[in-house]
Amino acid sequence: MLDTHTHTLFSFDGKMSAREMVLCAQERGAEYYCITDHFDFDYTFMPEYQSVRQIDVEGYLREILALKQEFPFLRIGCELGFSKKAEPLYQKLPFEVFDYVLNSCHTVGDYDAYNKKYFIGKSKREAYKQYLDNIRASVDADYPFNTISHIGYVRKNAPYEDTALYYEEFSEEIDGILTRIIERDKALEMNAKLPAEQFMPEKDILQRYYQLGGRKLTFGSDSHSKETIGNKFDLAEKIAAEAGFTAWTVFDKQQPRFVPFKR
Ligand SMILES: [Zn+2]
Ligand SMILES: [Zn+2]
Repeated sequence: MLDTHTHTLFSFDGKMSAREMVLCAQERGAEYYCITDHFDFDYTFMPEYQSVRQIDVEGYLREILALKQEFPFLRIGCELGFSKKAEPLYQKLPFEVFDYVLNSCHTVGDYDAYNKKYFIGKSKREAYKQYLDNIRASVDADYPFNTISHIGYVRKNAPYEDTALYYEEFSEEIDGILTRIIERDKALEMNAKLPAEQFMPEKDILQRYYQLGGRKLTFGSDSHSKETIGNKFDLAEKIAAEAGFTAWTVFDKQQPRFVPFKR
């Protein structure tokens, strides 16, 4: 098992200490385990989110780097919440310490797309298109990053009858994103934090990425507590294999490395 995307109490929405998470990952036999706590500098520009606790960057680096000495399978990462306004703030981060940098779109306009208010007055087409346009902008971000995470996050609290993000419905926008990921030699994440057998993105988008030449695919449970570390890893590998992939990509000091599928 490997897991490239997890959170601890350093994130405002984390539930467990880094040590508890790492010990659990060890118990589950993780060969690669990355902590990627939230850096939500995008929130600092948004009236509704000013009170959200921001990460204690120094404390985070100190604690995770110390744990890394103790647990050789541990990596230190970060999840940056993209917005154009926050770009200059992210540029000041000490990127040389990170093994792995996730670039994530949570916020679109005035709201986090997880917030039901984001959808008020928007059709599915409008809400999802604005979200996808923001992801497209994030692929051009002018700071170091390795992976575009959880494409489909917008569906989590969407009020539509069918919330799935289908390739067919948004093929132009999705092709724009995937093509640019490949051009910039970045990776795409397969994120397990959806109910049942669903992933972000789903198989149709993975297949398209593969078809366009994308080979760098990462797996992340996006766990905020230990119960879900490595969640649905075997299923993810099965679906990714069906889409054509033969290996996961992991990053050490931001250098990609392929880990062949077990099947
Ligand atoms: Zn996220
Ligand atoms: Zn996350």
